[in-house]
Amino acid sequence: MTTVRTRIAPSPTGDPHVGTAYIALFNLCFARQHGGEFILRIEDTDQVRSTRESEQQIYDALRWLGIEWNEGPDVGGPYGPYRQSERGEIYRKYALELVEKGHAFYCFCTPEELDQMRAEQTARGETPRYDGRGLLLADEEVQRRLAAGEPHVIRMKVPSEGVCVVPDMLRGDVEIPWDRMDMQVLMKTDGLPTYFLANVVDDHLMKITHVLRGEEWLPSAPKLILLYEYFGWDKPQLCYMPLLRNPDKSKLSKRKNPTSITFYERMGFLPEAMLNYLGRMGWSMPDEREKFTLEEMIANFDVQRVSLGGPIFDLEKLSWLNGQWMRDLSVEAFAAGVQKWAFNSDYLMKIAPHVQGRVETFSQIAPLASFFFAGGVQPDKALFAHKKLSDDQVRQLMQLILWKLEALRQWEKERITGCIQAVVEHLELKLRDAMPLMFAAVTGQASSVSVLDAMEILGPDLTRFRLRQAIELLGGVSKKENKEWEKLLGSIG
Ligand code: GLU
Repeated sequence: MTTVRTRIAPSPTGDPHVGTAYIALFNLCFARQHGGEFILRIEDTDQVRSTRESEQQIYDALRWLGIEWNEGPDVGGPYGPYRQSERGEIYRKYALELVEKGHAFYCFCTPEELDQMRAEQTARGETPRYDGRGLLLADEEVQRRLAAGEPHVIRMKVPSEGVCVVPDMLRGDVEIPWDRMDMQVLMKTDGLPTYFLANVVDDHLMKITHVLRGEEWLPSAPKLILLYEYFGWDKPQLCYMPLLRNPDKSKLSKRKNPTSITFYERMGFLPEAMLNYLGRMGWSMPDEREKFTLEEMIANFDVQRVSLGGPIFDLEKLSWLNGQWMRDLSVEAFAAGVQKWAFNSDYLMKIAPHVQGRVETFSQIAPLASFFFAGGVQPDKALFAHKKLSDDQVRQLMQLILWKLEALRQWEKERITGCIQAVVEHLELKLRDAMPLMFAAVTGQASSVSVLDAMEILGPDLTRFRLRQAIELLGGVSKKENKEWEKLLGSIG
């Protein structure tokens, strides 16, 4: 019998997402339940957005939760490398194989040419799509242009009619019409593969037997299936997991719910409770009990018990469950947990230099620095009254800074300052126009230690959370403002 092998394949392009942990958990349970293996592969072919910091955060966050993998970039394994950026030659070889077999072709279209093609199609009332013009090129012309080093991509052929049947472990056969599929780019001009090619090649070479992935990938499943057919490979069993949702049923997004796993760690949630809660997303124990451990989940796991109604990721429910876990800890374990969370010497050593010069007795530390040991803070609205800026301008300034900080990957004081600086300069303001607002939002107090140090020590999750809370306190951001300000953000260096 073949060994069951599952995997997660996160792209290291941002904060480690709870959705990644959720999919990882279900893949892990499925593999373990069948005595199989669970693999972690890093899909970092997007060179612009992928970072090593983000990759490291994925490892740390999953380990914090108690999710371990048998093979991966950091632990090795027999089917490596497990980082797609190190597998370039492999994808090239397979892309060329498809060209040779006549399943894929070269396309030399410039971005301008493609834009024009789409504009013309839209003007004719058609759905914009690649019209197959690369297929019309004569072989000699292709060879000549390749030899001349002209920029090109490799695209896959797709049928123009009929339907593709996607066999899904949860939904049964799902029919998707071929005319919804574009002639997907497999190799980009930079010589790197797209998700489709790399994903299929790797799942095959890494002997993955079951793929449990988010249902946002279901519409593009035909392209993957076709690639397996083109290569003549057996495809893995496919399982499209329901997407996590905000309480209002929209797709889980950081605008409405913190989505970074590290946020929950900094807020003082227990990893066991967090994992337990993710296990409740669309799944339940046969006896419907709410509190269970990872081992209990594995022992009782049955993927057919996943229900397709969108599971709601609700902070209040999670907090309730965390409370259950907290209360069931021994007093010793509870105290040890508190210590590990923020009363550890590393964290105290970061704070100490900033408070030492400001107190006469240890007992003055708590009032000065309590915000270092809190999740949210409750600043008085009056603290945001500005000498120079209107209330709307204050909200705009704070939102722009928040967005800049959300994109910041290396959380260091100089870089944080750089983000704020970029925004104030663009708005023709000074750093000192923004700092009191940051101070109020982050510390929630009228005076304390320097806010830039505080932001660095608190870390990205709590800093951003508090900025978001302050913006809400000041009235939030309307849809219209969101659009306008995002445009403005685009023009900030
Ligand atoms: N790299 C994809 C992602 O970030 C992987 C999706 C899949 O599991 O195929 O979600």
